[in-house]
Amino acid sequence: MLQAAPNSIESRDMLSLIHPQTNLAAHLERGPEVITRGQGVFVFDNNGRRYLECAAGLWCATLGFSSERLAKAAYEQLRTLGYYHNYWHYAHEKSIELAEKLLKIAPVPMSRVLFQNSGSEANDTAIKLAWYHWNARGRPERRKIIGRDLGYHGTTIAAISASGKPDMQLPFSLPLERFIHTLTNHYYKFHEAGETEEAYSARLAQALEELILAEGPETIAAFIAEPLIGAGGAIPPSRGYFEKIQVVLAKYEILFIADEVICGFGRTGYMWGSEAYGLKPDLIACAKGLSAGMLPIAAVLVGPRVYESMLEQSRQHGNFAHGSTYSGHPVATAVALEVLEIYREIDVLSRVRSAGAYMLERLEELRRHPLVGDISGIGLVAGIDLVKDKASRTFFEPAGRVGGLVMRAARERGLLVRVIGDRITLSPPLIITESEIDIIVDELKIVLDQVSATLSSGK
Ligand code: PLP
Repeated sequence: MLQAAPNSIESRDMLSLIHPQTNLAAHLERGPEVITRGQGVFVFDNNGRRYLECAAGLWCATLGFSSERLAKAAYEQLRTLGYYHNYWHYAHEKSIELAEKLLKIAPVPMSRVLFQNSGSEANDTAIKLAWYHWNARGRPERRKIIGRDLGYHGTTIAAISASGKPDMQLPFSLPLERFIHTLTNHYYKFHEAGETEEAYSARLAQALEELILAEGPETIAAFIAEPLIGAGGAIPPSRGYFEKIQVVLAKYEILFIADEVICGFGRTGYMWGSEAYGLKPDLIACAKGLSAGMLPIAAVLVGPRVYESMLEQSRQHGNFAHGSTYSGHPVATAVALEVLEIYREIDVLSRVRSAGAYMLERLEELRRHPLVGDISGIGLVAGIDLVKDKASRTFFEPAGRVGGLVMRAARERGLLVRVIGDRITLSPPLIITESEIDIIVDELKIVLDQVSATLSSGK
């Protein structure tokens, strides 16, 4: 165990906290990175070092890492009504107002909003609602949920079962049985020689249809997908993909759950990833940018098909037996409302489009680098595939080692960058400026050169 001074923040951490998504044994050897404050796109550690947060924390700190204005919104709400719930017909104004706003900006007509506290919970709930819907329609055999390899929907039991992340499933004896998976969508990595993007998309749609037919269409409840694969590597969909996928879903009357947890609220330069890629979901899960990451809140937007079923269930059987203590929490909803108002005032979509175009244009400079195989992105999300050999599109084995070198070298240079496998991902706060983007790209160039040098020296 790291020899930290007794009662230092490092030793207190190691003796008290379990860190999610962390190697717990390694943590005791190396100790925590303690972040003490944030300002704009920067965070500062307890040694006073400044880092540019290229991932907006976990994709969520869309407005940066501190805010007087949001603090005031929370304070005012805490003074007026710090807690109430929405059970048994009880209501409070902020949750009503936020639901109204979400329905107004929804990418397709949606009927109602059900608040949750995290992206995982929102996806779990959306999955439950898909089952609820089919039960209401007298089709209880429609139970299977189709997710995608590399998809990520959260860590609660259904959300991680729907994800395509064996590393996060197998140690917990998951996925649950009724969850099945179809091919991921990463054109650069998985297309066959000479295969166009459209042809690749058609192949994936065909694979989905084959899976549905093999399982029996009458057993499938819903398909769940992120508009762009986020935690699986910040990978935009191949051209024509969702158009073709939705034809298959419609053919077999399968519900479509859009996981907008990272795309929702402007990340792509559209309010929703569904708008960017033409998704027409029945259920939408959103979180993160809803409160700019400042307080835990999430929502499920329920489309007409499912809401009709829910009403029918209540007419037949009474209570809608689902909910949680903090859903629609007054303070979280008040802060989310203020966040949506800030997005409107700063015209977040125009900002993301212009900053995003600048980020992608500057990143193109990295394409010449021998380690860089591909660069893709939309709005303020981008990914860079690192390859061992560009010409033959050969990836590093094992995946993640070179990515780890990049991540560590970037941190040394003051960038907190997330590298997923060997794909560098960028999803900075939506308020990032061009000069801050310059810092990211200029530093990344140096980092890639350093890593190349390390690899050539055989270390
Ligand atoms: N869905 C997507 C697309 C995500 O990226 C995440 C988290 O990163 C989740 C769901 C889970 O959200 P949470 O961590 O708030 O439970």
